[in-house]
Amino acid sequence: MMNRNYVNLNTNPCKMCMPIGGCLALKGIEQTMVMMHGSQGCSTYMRRHISTHYNEPVDIASSALNEKETVYGGEKNLKKGLANVIKMYEPKVIGVLTTCLAETIGEDIRAISESFKTENNVSDLDIVTIATPGYGASQYEGYFAALKALVTYFAKDANPSSHINVITTLMTPADQRLLKEMLSDFGLSFVLLPDISETLDAPYETQYHKIPKDGTKREDIAKMGGAIATIEIGQLVYDEISPGYALYATHGVPMHRLPMPIGITQTDALLDLLSKLSGNAIPEKYVKQRGRMLDAMVDSHKYNGEGRAAIFGDPEIVLATTALCAENGIKPEIIATGTQSKTFKQFVETLSFSGKESAAILDDTDFDTIQKLVRERGVNLLIGNSDGKFVMEKEGVPLVRIGFPIHDQVGAQRKCYIGYEGSLRFLDDLTNTILDHKHMHYRRNVINTYFKPTEAVEKGAIDYDA
Ligand code: SF4
Repeated sequence: MMNRNYVNLNTNPCKMCMPIGGCLALKGIEQTMVMMHGSQGCSTYMRRHISTHYNEPVDIASSALNEKETVYGGEKNLKKGLANVIKMYEPKVIGVLTTCLAETIGEDIRAISESFKTENNVSDLDIVTIATPGYGASQYEGYFAALKALVTYFAKDANPSSHINVITTLMTPADQRLLKEMLSDFGLSFVLLPDISETLDAPYETQYHKIPKDGTKREDIAKMGGAIATIEIGQLVYDEISPGYALYATHGVPMHRLPMPIGITQTDALLDLLSKLSGNAIPEKYVKQRGRMLDAMVDSHKYNGEGRAAIFGDPEIVLATTALCAENGIKPEIIATGTQSKTFKQFVETLSFSGKESAAILDDTDFDTIQKLVRERGVNLLIGNSDGKFVMEKEGVPLVRIGFPIHDQVGAQRKCYIGYEGSLRFLDDLTNTILDHKHMHYRRNVINTYFKPTEAVEKGAIDYDA
């Protein structure tokens, strides 16, 4: 009998491909341009997603591989593309990412880039190459793989310094601005990697910058090897793609790995660590903010108890949001990510919430599965990125947006979810959405509970909600 290997097929996967994560990381590095080694469609798709999410102009170059290069190799195209990028943008750094096609035909982007530098005598330009096959993993691994490539390329054995490294999972620019404020409030000097706080949410200016200003400087990445500690915000990051681990293994920088600081417990963990590393007490302003959040939790818990949520998207955001729901009595019915992860379920298991035994905890999943479970389990709140809007539309369940991409609403780049204040605003959004949904369906629910529907109602001749 034939031995068949079955593949887990996904329909509308709950993830994006690996190079788009690499792009997002590189967009937080100063004077950096991204070159996608692959077909033009890949960079167009990524530009479209990034620019509609952040509402900023987003340039991504492409080596524009075609049928001929697929057969004979794309070296010529990549070199021509690099030359054009230098002429048009004059970057200090070019991040070269592979795609499905380039990986399938086995392109050696590092060798091609090095030979390009020698041939063109561009010694002051840094070309960082990152293998990101679209089919290899999700945006999550692509993002961290790019950050690891950057520290591996730039970080040096620097003299011990008093600064700390802060490496973040994908957050919003507003989240990063708040994080920087927190670090400064503790009197810490720091290197933030990447820093999209200005590059992907820039103030209006009459002068157009081909490459946005700001981002992490390459000199600052170079000194990450001499930091007193690294904080890596990302619970699921494993050593092979971890920039924090690379700094520890190569330069001996101690690493602390934390979850996204969403909710009381997870924000406490960050502030406690900042207090320990700085030797300073937690500033009074955060003590007050924490108190306000506790007060709000007391106010809204009676409503949140009616929430049955489906949480989906980037695994780090899903874990942090699940923790916030668990703290506030919103029952996570479906906890789902498209990223394949051996440890995702284990981290969910560490959280405490009633009904955890029956919650659907899914990695490597898709929106078809999520939609089916939403219907089966009577979910009344969706929490995730815009890709869940079809579940919202088909099942009539409201969607509170968090994560990437969000391109059916404005303002994704300005929303802050972290810290006590960000968590509180996010929690208020969740509570108010539960209340709105309840009020919208109140009559229908009462009639369904207490009366047998008449024939006219069943045929849709009577509108309950009028
Ligand atoms: S999945 Fe592959 S082909 Fe599709 S956009 Fe990503 S890299 Fe390109």
